[in-house]
Amino acid sequence: MLSHEAKQGDALLNRCSYVGRFAPSPTGPLHFGSLLTAVASYCDAKANQGQWLVRIEDTDIPRIFPNSEAHILSCIDAFQFEPDAEIIFQKDRFEIYEQVLEQLKQCNAIYACQCTRKMLGSNHIYVGTCRDLNLDFADQAIRLKVADQQICFEDRLQGLQCSNLQQDLGDFVLKRRDGIISYQLAVVVDDYLQGISHVVRGADLLDNTARQIWLGSLLDYPSLSYMHLPLAMNDQGQKLSKQNLAHALDITQAAKLLQQAILALGQATVELDQPRIMLQQAVQQWDINLIPTGLHLSGTYL
Ligand SMILES: [Zn+2]
Repeated sequence: MLSHEAKQGDALLNRCSYVGRFAPSPTGPLHFGSLLTAVASYCDAKANQGQWLVRIEDTDIPRIFPNSEAHILSCIDAFQFEPDAEIIFQKDRFEIYEQVLEQLKQCNAIYACQCTRKMLGSNHIYVGTCRDLNLDFADQAIRLKVADQQICFEDRLQGLQCSNLQQDLGDFVLKRRDGIISYQLAVVVDDYLQGISHVVRGADLLDNTARQIWLGSLLDYPSLSYMHLPLAMNDQGQKLSKQNLAHALDITQAAKLLQQAILALGQATVELDQPRIMLQQAVQQWDINLIPTGLHLSGTYL
């Protein structure tokens, strides 16, 4: 009994401290928008005496872009970020996600869905067609049941966010018919297993958060703190993304790019130096009240 209590105490201690992460997907090379997320998550963790972890979110194997994993790793190196634990790769963790699906199946939180993309059509809200059909799980998509209730959280930058998953989305997919584990499932499980306490990421993921909070609550995982950063836009008014052909980060220009990223985040300027030194200074000066508010940055980026 004593040892059990001691263990719980340790877990509590871990959960109270700050553990942040940077979790890029290798669906293309890192771009300036990814650098903003890396810098903000790093500085926020370090300014709060926290740990900073890196996780490669490569569950969507068909969308993995050749060599982008190597580019991510070379950027971490070139920008002299120092993760506090070994980098983990989601593609090595399918057994873990399958175990969690089994756990959700036991408590009747998920079901198999045979609807094809064609059957779903342009309707963005899944109406629960297969919810009570008790279909066999083999070779079908797996959906998580949602409830008709408001899910709210206080984002550190974007303020109070609320959504009703049933009305806005419907039961959502945790595993695709082709076996690919959804981003939602992998991110929730790994944030929990890595002991993440604080999520700092781009505002393009803001509307994923309610799904992740809902799934985490069903699994009895502790709740997380969220901060969604304004997105860097190109001169066409599109967010920087692999789809919009954002420039890959040029690792030979690491110091200059790092300086630009720190400025884009509204922080006090940092002299050009070794990236490690620049990051140290950015951590000392880090002030989230200076980060521009809203969903987009006002300047344009390549
Ligand atoms: Zn269905």
